[in-house]
Order: sequence, then structure tokens, then C-alpha cells
Amino acid sequence: MAEIHQVPNIVFNDGHLIPSIGLGTFQIRGNQGVGQILSALQAGYRLIDTSTNYDSEGAVGEAIPRSEIFVTSKLPGKYHHYADALKMIQESIFRMGIDYFDLYLIHWPNPKRGLYLEAWQALIQARKEGLVRSIGVSNFTAEHLDKIISETKVTPAVNQIEVHPYWVQSEMLAVNKKRGILTEAWSPLGRGSKELSEPLISTLANKYHKNAGQIILRWHHQRGILPIPKSSSVFHQRENLAIFDFALSDQEVQQINQLTRSDGRVDNQDPNSYEEFD
Ligand code: NDP
Repeated sequence: MAEIHQVPNIVFNDGHLIPSIGLGTFQIRGNQGVGQILSALQAGYRLIDTSTNYDSEGAVGEAIPRSEIFVTSKLPGKYHHYADALKMIQESIFRMGIDYFDLYLIHWPNPKRGLYLEAWQALIQARKEGLVRSIGVSNFTAEHLDKIISETKVTPAVNQIEVHPYWVQSEMLAVNKKRGILTEAWSPLGRGSKELSEPLISTLANKYHKNAGQIILRWHHQRGILPIPKSSSVFHQRENLAIFDFALSDQEVQQINQLTRSDGRVDNQDPNSYEEFD
């Protein structure tokens, strides 16, 4: 039988626990998606990241044994008004056939529209009503974080942001850490791009008898980041969990940090200007 990987937990600022690596489900949908999520659960994943916008909430709800799995979903931009946001959370819960979310995030701040504070107030209310256990945000800058924290006195448990070797985000990591917010990395493998074949990553993979994906995921882990790699391949899913039996040196972590580039974003989505209204 294939090995099942044990994943250590991290403690949130609200006291709840979250597994330190999860499965992203962007483009994992339908019957095929259910099978892909089931194979991930068999490999040992206990955290699944979904979103209304990925159209994967149904597949996740269908696949998971609820009590054992930590489920995250996210509020779409077109539902930032307070009443809309609460109804959307309820709809997502119905859609998934579950009773509550372990973690619920505002997907993007959409600052030009200026409703993210209202959306945050709705998430606080959803938590009071037991619809969600922990609440957080995604793609928030220091300015967005400080606005919601100063207005509501509630600090997000998580800020899920783009992080990978070409976009290392050291400044945002410090911003989150200073406020006691856990950083989750989206596109942690740079969406499976050239970063996986960077010479430095290959050298480290040879040194530690690991593959490139494992080196990058371990780098996230040692930076205090929770990565949510997406994979529909059973093989990659299992490989991506096998990162808790070796360690990079501090110097090697710094060397990977040096791969960052000013044009390193996977899709040029700047949270200050990107508008997500789907
Ligand atoms: P990832 O960085 O997770 O890369 C996924 C790609 O890498 C897939 O093509 C996958 O292919 C491939 N891959 C996975 N593991 C390996 C491996 N070990 N070796 C080689 N290739 C590998 O990109 P995503 O953009 O999907 O980000 C992850 C998750 O983050 C999303 O699924 C979603 O849940 C979340 N997300 C959140 C956003 C936000 O705004 N909050 C924005 C974007 C993503 P294969 O399937 O064949 O394994």
C-alpha cells in the first residue's frame, strides 16, 4: 500500500488548528474532480482549498468525510455587500452539503469598489452564527488589512496571497507576521511553470534526493507559509506531501528568495488594481 503522509498542524491566532499543507482545487471539478480529491484524501491531505469561483465546491462536498477534513472557501467579488455575503456563505454551505466552513476568506479586496470592509463585517457575523469557524482574507495588502482591523478590531486568521520562487513576497510575509496572520501561498509551485526547472532548485533536489516540487514546498514551510499546491495527478499529490522528512539550510532558503523577479507574478494580478467580480 502507498505511504500515507502525516501532516503537522499550525495554530491560528483564534486558537483553531489547520494542517500545514493543503490541496488547491482550481480546475478540479465534476465526477473526475471527486476522484482526484478522493485520491488526495487517501494520500493524507486533510485541508482542501476551494472557492465559489472555482466551481469545485460541489466536488469537494461530495468527496470529503466532513468531520476529518478542514475546508476553506472564498467569497466572490460580486457579493461584497453585507447581506449578499451572508447569503452567499449559506448558499456555499448548501451546495457543499456541509454545516459550516472551517475557514472562509474574502477572495479579493477589489479596492476600487471599496466594499471589502462590509464583506469583512459579514464574515464576522457568519462566524457568530456558526456558519464558519475561522475567518480570513486573500490578496489583501497592508493597507486593506489595517483598514478592516482598525474598523472591526478583528484580525484575520489567514491572508492567502501569491507566493512562489519568482514572487517571494518577503514584505507581505512580514506584514502578515507582524499582525499575527498566517500566510497561505496560492500558486505555490508557480502554477507548475519554469520555476520547477530553475538550476538552483534542481541542485537542491539532487542534494536532498527530493524533486523540485518538494524543494519549493519545503521552502514555503520553512518560511512559515502554508502552501496549497493544486494537483490532479495522484503521483504529484503524494509527492507534494512528502516534505516533512528533510530541511533546507537557512542559507538555501535565502538563495531561493533571491530568485524573485519584478515581473514574477503568474498572471499579473496586482491586488491594488485587479478587479474580481465573478
Ligand atoms: P500551483 O502552483 O499549485 O500549480 C499547479 C500546477 O502544478 C498544476 O498544473 C499541476 O499539475 C502542477 N504540479 C503540481 N504538483 C507538481 C509537482 N510535484 N511537479 C510538477 N508539477 C506539479 O498553482 P495553482 O494556481 O493551482 O494554485 C494552487 C491553489 O491556490 C489553487 O488550486 C487554488 O486553490 C488557490 N488559488 C487561490 C487564488 C486566490 O486568489 N486566492 C488564486 C489562484 C489559486 P497536475 O495537476 O498535473 O499535478
